[in-house]
Amino acid sequence: MNSQKKNIQKSSTSPSKSANNALKGGAFLLEKTDPQNVFIPEEWNEEQRMLLETVQEFFLQEVHSMGIDKLAQLDASKDMPIILDIFHKAADMGFCGVAIDEKYGGMDLDFNTNLLISEALSLGFSFATTIGAQTSIGSLPIVYYGTAQQKDKYLPGIASGEIKAAYCLTEPSAGSDANSGKSKVTFTKDGDFILNGQKMWITNGGFADLFIVFAKIENDKNLSAFIVEKAFGGITLGAEEKKLGIKASSTVQVFFENCPIPKENLLGKREGGFKIALNILNTGRIKLCAGGVGGSKFGITRSIEYATQRIQFEQPIANFGAIKHKIGEMVMQTHVTESAMYRTGYNIDQKYKEFVKQGQDNSEAKLNAIREFAVECALLKVKGSEVATYVVDEALQIHGGMGYSVETGIEMGYRDARITRIYEGTNEINRMLSVAELTKRAVKTKEIDLMGAGKTIPFYLIQQALTFRVGSKGMGDARIVENFKKAFLLISGAAGNKLKEKMVDEQEMVMNLSDMLGIAFFAESALLRLEKLRNKSGVKAETITTQENILKLYLYESTNKVRKLGEDTICSYATGIEKRGLRLALRLLTPHYPVNPKELRRAIADFTIAKGKYPFA
Ligand SMILES: Cc1cc2nc3c(=O)[nH]c(=O)nc-3n(C[C@H](O)[C@H](O)[C@H](O)COP(=O)(O)OP(=O)(O)OC[C@H]3O[C@@H](n4cnc5c(N)ncnc54)[C@H](O)[C@@H]3O)c2cc1C
Repeated sequence: MNSQKKNIQKSSTSPSKSANNALKGGAFLLEKTDPQNVFIPEEWNEEQRMLLETVQEFFLQEVHSMGIDKLAQLDASKDMPIILDIFHKAADMGFCGVAIDEKYGGMDLDFNTNLLISEALSLGFSFATTIGAQTSIGSLPIVYYGTAQQKDKYLPGIASGEIKAAYCLTEPSAGSDANSGKSKVTFTKDGDFILNGQKMWITNGGFADLFIVFAKIENDKNLSAFIVEKAFGGITLGAEEKKLGIKASSTVQVFFENCPIPKENLLGKREGGFKIALNILNTGRIKLCAGGVGGSKFGITRSIEYATQRIQFEQPIANFGAIKHKIGEMVMQTHVTESAMYRTGYNIDQKYKEFVKQGQDNSEAKLNAIREFAVECALLKVKGSEVATYVVDEALQIHGGMGYSVETGIEMGYRDARITRIYEGTNEINRMLSVAELTKRAVKTKEIDLMGAGKTIPFYLIQQALTFRVGSKGMGDARIVENFKKAFLLISGAAGNKLKEKMVDEQEMVMNLSDMLGIAFFAESALLRLEKLRNKSGVKAETITTQENILKLYLYESTNKVRKLGEDTICSYATGIEKRGLRLALRLLTPHYPVNPKELRRAIADFTIAKGKYPFA
């Protein structure tokens, strides 16, 4: 790593009050969180803000300055020198070492600051994927699971960018069902390994020097993980895939034919590979959300720039209600996602400190802290990718015909964003995972008392019926958020009781439940952010008012969604008196939320338009 690395300085997340009561993953559903213990983006310190700007400026200078025409034509199949040039410049700035220990030449930034960098990387279009694969799935398996020798050997090169890394899990016949891969490892007579197999869709594969490969040893049931250097031999690459988007990122098939691997390059334990793969994906998922948030903010800013300049019917199109509706929604969705993501990133940092205090070593503590929040990471992956694809779609619509043209770059963003709903586990898989992980913690490991919480619901419903009439203005926003949690507990509990283990086969219902769980989490995160912001000095009244408007709009829309999702689920399995009872309870929990959504969207849009960009933090 050369001296330019000082462009990025080590920094750490430090909310106004240190929180040592980091919650258990998934426990947001049952426990009250003190807003003072939540990190909000308004608390980024000077260093962190500079870091964000450094990364953003790098991409503006190195990537955007190429001009959209050239950028849109970049393709990994013909432009590898350009791609590698930018990769090396980014590495010189220190971008490849953000999650690697200082002793290996990295910066070992805390998790939340890492998320901030992932947000900033999104300005790099396809390059975000290239650098993201290096700093996340390509290197974290060694960071978290490597032996001291493996770390010594590989991490300095990865941090400096001299070693380019890729992650090889997917195979032609093993996508979502990743543990079904056919790649096989056998032993030599000296106890070393020989790998045969085929991997598919490998990001950075076209130029990688090092592959983290998942394969089964002999007749093992589960995958093991291996660090495979290209220099070992027996590796050939397929042609660059022709893709819808992220065209300037390399994606190839990788073939291993009698590829020799020394025994010391087994990563983690034999048959421990699937666990490694999944744990690394937890990190990838929340980082993907950060990229989605960054892309959404950029899309909002570009939309405002265009909408304020484009004149139709003798006025800027930004004046029209239909456009304000879009901007209001785009900002609201981005804001709630951002609030939940950095809340989780901070909790991961807190949990890590707690585990270190308990005597866990650094890597183990990091890994366990991320695994603790697997439910949240899955919810965030789904939300971040869906908000990003939604925002860029609306940005394209705001640009009209110009959005459809290569000239503005919006069509490229539209194509690039689409992959986020597919990789790091498809959104279907992540929705199911969020509910399965929560259920496991309730039923198997008994870390979360969902059943106990379920038992309190009848009393809660009676209280709700007696205290709040339908449409009553007396119900505070905190109560609405609590109602979302109760709606999830009520319906998931009732359906789970009835269907038992058959529930996993009722995927339509599980997907609905995941969305209900997500709404509770995102709504609460926006509420906590607002509550903390209200007590923070120096915050402008208009910022607070806009965040209040956002919360109200999200609660209004979510009330309707929770009712619909809940109804759908109830009507999918319940009959007779059970169905009538559950529907009545759901209606009690989702009374009309009396606001004017049109005015809220307009107010959010007006504030954003006046700022000329995404207006927070
Ligand atoms: C550009 C790109 C880059 C990638 N980079 C990498 C990489 O670097 N390393 C790597 O290992 N992989 C990588 N992948 C692979 C990616 O992770 C997989 O494409 C993804 O996991 C889905 O697998 P699949 O494509 O085989 O789809 P499938 O698993 O065949 O899924 C097809 C559809 O069926 C649904 N489905 C599948 N199983 C179920 C189920 N049980 N229940 C309900 N629905 C289901 C899916 O949600 C999806 O909608 C990349 C993919 C792309 C396109």
